[in-house]
Amino acid sequence: MVSAQYPNSTLNCKQITTITYMAIALIAHDGKKADLVHFALNNKDAMQSTEVVATGTTGKLLLDAGIEVRRMRSGPEGGDAQIAALVVEGDLKAVFFFRDPMDKHPHEPDIQMLMRLCDVHNVPLATNPATAQLVLNALIAS
Ligand code: PGA
Repeated sequence: MVSAQYPNSTLNCKQITTITYMAIALIAHDGKKADLVHFALNNKDAMQSTEVVATGTTGKLLLDAGIEVRRMRSGPEGGDAQIAALVVEGDLKAVFFFRDPMDKHPHEPDIQMLMRLCDVHNVPLATNPATAQLVLNALIAS
C-alpha cells in the first residue's frame, strides 16, 4: 500500500497525515451536499469501518453530522485535485462524488481530471446516490 503525505490546510481543517490503508472519498457539489450527508448517515456503520476523506466543505458538513472524515482543501481550492492524487497513489478503494449536473463549477477542469484518473486507475466512481449505494454495498460484501 502506498502512503501519501499531505500538507496542513489553512482552512481550520483536521490535519491530513499519512494514509496507511485504503480509504473512500466523499465529495458533493453544493446542490448535492444534503444528499451526500443523508447517504453517509444511512451508511454510518460502513463509514465508520473505513477511513473517509472528503473535500473541505463537504467534509465539514459530514463532521457536523457525526461522520469522521479527513478533510482536504475545498474543491475549488484544489480538494478534488488532492483526491485525484490519492487515486493515482492507489490509496482509495472508491470515490463517491455527488455531482450537480444543473450547475456550473469554476473548478470543472479538476473535476474532469478526477473522473479521468478514476478511469485510468480503474477506481470505482459513483456520481449519484443510486450508484453510490450499489458500490458501497459491493464494497461491504467484498
Ligand atoms: P467542497 O468541494 O466539498 O469543498 O464544496 C466539492 C467540490 O465542489 O468539488
